[in-house]
Amino acid sequence: MVTDLVQIRRLGEKARAENFRFRRWIKSHNFVERQFRRAAEEVHAAIDCRECAECCRVTEVRASERDIAHLARFLGISERQFVERYTMLDEHKATILKRGGSGCVFLEGNDCTVYEARPADCERFPHLLRGSGSIESRMWQFVDRATYCPIVYNWMEKIKGLTNFRPGH
Ligand code: SF4
Ligand code: SF4
Repeated sequence: MVTDLVQIRRLGEKARAENFRFRRWIKSHNFVERQFRRAAEEVHAAIDCRECAECCRVTEVRASERDIAHLARFLGISERQFVERYTMLDEHKATILKRGGSGCVFLEGNDCTVYEARPADCERFPHLLRGSGSIESRMWQFVDRATYCPIVYNWMEKIKGLTNFRPGH
């Protein structure tokens, strides 16, 4: 299993075109979803997110009203104070957690300082095991995530093997 983040970036970018083809190929065949889930569970169990935290550096995290209420309570401040101090707007004017040079405002080293109250999106990331719709219908999300998330990269490679996908397909 590859976990080195420099390697993941290189390999995920190298596999990007192939992964797009794989996504189309998966959608045009009938596979049992259970095998994809089982593979995702195995990869999740083998990789320690606390050693990585790359998604906290790379992704923008939407903050729902529920997330804001939860985080404000956790930090002992009002929701308004939380919004002022810890959120910003993304290019679509959606509220996201504030970001600095090294990613999310709550990231310290590899640790999330609000772990117990982190937003639902963080809890579910990379959305392999928990997400709306079937894994096949969400495949479009995973090509990009495979360029920085070790779980997604290794899972994609694993299921290519399971489905006998050949790069020439
Ligand atoms: S979900 Fe992926 S990118 Fe995020 S910490 Fe875990 S392995 Fe790293
Ligand atoms: S809230 Fe925590 S888990 Fe979510 S992106 Fe920020 S540091 Fe990562």
